[in-house]
Amino acid sequence: MAQMYYDKDADSSIISGTRVAIIGYGSQGHAHALNLSDSGVQVRVALRPGSASGEKAWASGLEVLSVPEAVAWADLIMFLAPDTVQKQIYDEQVAPHLGKGQTLGFAHGFNIRYQQIVPPDDVAVIMVAPKGPGHLVRRTYEEGGGVPSLIAVENDPEGVGHALALSYAWGIGSTKAGVLDTTFAEETETDLFGEQVVLCGGLSELIVAGFTTLVEAGYQPESAYFECLHEMKLIVDLLYENGLAGMWFSVSETAEYGGLTRGPRVVTEATRAEMRRILAEIQDGSFARELIDEMAAGRPRFNQLREQAKGQAVEQVGATLRSMMPFLSTKSKLTEVSGG
Ligand code: NDP
Ligand code: MG
Ligand code: MG
Repeated sequence: MAQMYYDKDADSSIISGTRVAIIGYGSQGHAHALNLSDSGVQVRVALRPGSASGEKAWASGLEVLSVPEAVAWADLIMFLAPDTVQKQIYDEQVAPHLGKGQTLGFAHGFNIRYQQIVPPDDVAVIMVAPKGPGHLVRRTYEEGGGVPSLIAVENDPEGVGHALALSYAWGIGSTKAGVLDTTFAEETETDLFGEQVVLCGGLSELIVAGFTTLVEAGYQPESAYFECLHEMKLIVDLLYENGLAGMWFSVSETAEYGGLTRGPRVVTEATRAEMRRILAEIQDGSFARELIDEMAAGRPRFNQLREQAKGQAVEQVGATLRSMMPFLSTKSKLTEVSGG
């Protein structure tokens, strides 16, 4: 069993005595800034001039600075802007103001693992990566819980990186749920694999393929939507609370027998072989290269795929059905949810 850390293992005085600049106030940024602030930590939000999210930060009682101002003020600079803009922010607005004794923090290891950001040796580099969307990092904290996090230390000139990362994890509520040691390489590679193969890519394709199969066979799209998308949440709640066994326990015996016999016909050896190829592209850096090149080219393929995904039948019927379920929209606002 891996070493896990909980509230009692973290020294909260470390983060309480650390000035934390949070770059970005989106999904993760707003959650870290507000949770840390509520935990008694000195926080400044760092954004570009005229930033739309800056108004939200001010409205929540947080002080907003420019990135260079925040870097000049902070002990710990946490990168919570999108991965794809972090290199530019670092090169232009962080590196020129960075000095010995400061720490850079990340919630995902991409830019360090793929050497997009290469900090000097006298700057510490740590990671606190919540294993959940930002809006849940905030919501679970407000409810007295937390989202688990992985922590890692890449560069540690003063030998305090691990204790600082654990203390930060306490500040955002993660030591309530459990914190695990990792490395930048492991976090980056498993995170990319998980979101591509299981959580975001695999799941969305599974839903769409199931929905389309039913609709093409002449069943009502509304019925296909409830079956293949809406009910996913109810099943995932069972998995979340009691694992696969909890799900098998709660579904009917008919579902259990059908699932156990048919599931392996959906995820076949060919699917597993493709999973291994996707993992190899993550490990050898070719996925990272592809993403960086796509961004540099102005996102032509990304934009096209996004538009295509929005126009799908499952999205159209879903929007209508969800508009009749107002209780859904109160808890998760789409603008606050992004990434995996
Ligand atoms: P978001 O896309 O939600 O970040 C948007 C924020 O970044 C906005 O406040 C935006 O400001 C700001 N921003 C964008 N460009 C710039 C810029 N050039 N200069 C300054 N600020 C800028 O990011 P996420 O929260 O999704 O991701 C942040 C990090 O957390 C990433 O490393 C990601 O991998 C990681 N992560 C994310 C998870 C998630 O739940 N989304 C889960 C776990 C880790 P503006 O209003 O000006 O556009
Ligand atoms: Mg993830
Ligand atoms: Mg991710």
